Amino acid sequence: MEARAGDGARALLRVLRDLPGEVCPEEPLAPHTTFRIGGRAAALYRPPTADALVEAVVRARSHGFPWLLLGGGSKVLVPDRGFPGLVLSTAELRSWREEDGVLVAGAGVPLSRVARWGGWKLAGIPGTVGGAVTMNAGTRYGSIGEQVLWVRALLPDGRVRTFAPVECGFAYRDSLFRRLRLPVLSVALRPDRRGDLAPLLAERARTQPLDLPSAGCVFRNPPGQSAGWLIDQAGLKGARIGDAVVSERHANFICNLGHARARDVLELVDLVQDRVVSRFGVRLRLELEVVGA
Ligand SMILES: Cc1cc2nc3c(=O)[nH]c(=O)nc-3n(C[C@H](O)[C@H](O)[C@H](O)COP(=O)(O)OP(=O)(O)OC[C@H]3O[C@@H](n4cnc5c(N)ncnc54)[C@H](O)[C@@H]3O)c2cc1C
Repeated sequence: MEARAGDGARALLRVLRDLPGEVCPEEPLAPHTTFRIGGRAAALYRPPTADALVEAVVRARSHGFPWLLLGGGSKVLVPDRGFPGLVLSTAELRSWREEDGVLVAGAGVPLSRVARWGGWKLAGIPGTVGGAVTMNAGTRYGSIGEQVLWVRALLPDGRVRTFAPVECGFAYRDSLFRRLRLPVLSVALRPDRRGDLAPLLAERARTQPLDLPSAGCVFRNPPGQSAGWLIDQAGLKGARIGDAVVSERHANFICNLGHARARDVLELVDLVQDRVVSRFGVRLRLELEVVGA
């Protein structure tokens, strides 16, 4: 059934009407996330260029619309009620240039392509370059921040600025771009170890529930501890609310068995946090990005 555009969608369509590319009113967001959960956005826009993305964000800000960047949607939980503003998908920003061994990639380039190019440690992480830099995605072998030479991002005043690595504030699954909500437009990376990705991909297939929708690790590892181990030891593998379940294969994953709602996931998050606190006295913090939280 075709969704009728509500007031928010109509206002956004008006504000963005002369921009290039597609604006989809009342777009369901679940298919744009690896969790396959969540309601509709008032509108989803896929800017074909970084300039169009900048212009859309500037206009959304000046008209007071809530807005949100979406890469591969592999770290987000969208609420059941959806998002009452503009979702900007970076899917079309796939520019790719190699110069003197340095890769300059648009925010929407799939991370898998970077892993094959020269980011061995990133093998198997879904999503985009922009999302990975924002989250400082990585594995126990290292994070993408270690490869960054510069990042071009949009400032709150509408200017685009190039950030040197020391200015990016990279930390464990965190960056300045995440903390200040600065849209990442493009990134320059130096190659890291090049190697056979197959063993890393096989290890993931063995240890992660890749057959079910999820958003990867739900909780951050507390300093010196493994969130997955704490959840497992608290007896929570298989704990289920609605169609949201703590994975039997990897306790730090919550999976969608088919029709999980965001509410189910959030109730399960509360249950896990409460049980881990009462068993170990450790409060697990979310790594999952809950939209609008
Ligand atoms: C099966 C599975 C395994 C995973 N394994 C790992 C792992 O080993 N290591 C790891 O670190 N992560 C892992 N993840 C999580 C996720 O893949 C990474 O965090 C990834 O880098 C997110 O990228 P994305 O493009 O999907 O971001 P999204 O989920 O689209 O967005 C994540 C956050 O970044 C923001 N964002 C997205 N793009 C931009 C941009 N261009 N500019 C500014 N902000 C932006 C969003 O608004 C949101 O707040 C896994 C996820 C899954 C489903």
